[in-house]
Amino acid sequence: MGSIKVAVDAGHGYNTAGKRSPAFIKTVTHTYDGKKITVPAGSHFREHVANAGVANYLADYLNRLGFDVLRTGFDDDNGTNDTTDMSINKRQSLIRGYGCQYSMSCHFNAYTGEWNSANGIEALYDVSEKRVGDSKALAVAIQKRIQPVYGQKNRGAKTAKGLGMCNATGMGCVASVLMEYAFMDNRFEAENYFCNPESWYRYAVATAEGFVDYLTGGKPEKELTQAEATKKELTQAEATKKQALWLQIMLNKTLDAKLVVDGIWGTKTKKAVLQLYKKYDFGEANGNTVSLAAIKRLAR
Ligand SMILES: [Zn+2]
Repeated sequence: MGSIKVAVDAGHGYNTAGKRSPAFIKTVTHTYDGKKITVPAGSHFREHVANAGVANYLADYLNRLGFDVLRTGFDDDNGTNDTTDMSINKRQSLIRGYGCQYSMSCHFNAYTGEWNSANGIEALYDVSEKRVGDSKALAVAIQKRIQPVYGQKNRGAKTAKGLGMCNATGMGCVASVLMEYAFMDNRFEAENYFCNPESWYRYAVATAEGFVDYLTGGKPEKELTQAEATKKELTQAEATKKQALWLQIMLNKTLDAKLVVDGIWGTKTKKAVLQLYKKYDFGEANGNTVSLAAIKRLAR
């Protein structure tokens, strides 16, 4: 069994008509992580570049956590080389074909296309019973993490109608969501978040954290033990599998352990636990238990 498969999508093509900010009123520059973005006064910033900015960070981060990530709608170059708009059908068939269990599509919002006062952040899931799968729970978990990043207006986890990238069932996914991180036609959000690589990074990490919360139920409250996963009856084994998933994801993050994220606490996971205990001096270890102190370190 391999790692959980996840699709990360960047919406639209570089040249897709209309998918850009109004003309900037002043020149804005942001520098972060070796990237310098300048939007000169009078020019428009393209949605695809910002979407791909977030999507790149999100795909890289999920990779580091151990997920098997499929990228759709963007290349590795922050989207600036991507001149064609990949059709929704193409995106969907790639996601279905890869066998992704989850998909997340990164977008920025627009209201009128002229500067206006609409603002805020939201996570969308499909309104239709036939298409939604488990997407609502994923949208709620992601919204809970992305909204506090800048304290933007909380537009909530919301239903949407007919968006191709929210059609979980159609793509063979358990859950599919679409995030609208900020309004590109709101002057404050456009200048501060939309064209800012630091926001792209922060939105991406928060999105990944929401996804991990959804999958695992979040940081365990008690010491973790491997034995429970095999001995207890089904419901408890399910709960323990979620904890084992959390453990594997956090061992990957903390130690770069490169564990397959499958919720099976086997030999490799045990070895990584031993490595964790050794590295941070948590004392005697057998790889079958993870103390609260170790959980706290992993959760950092
Ligand atoms: Zn969009």
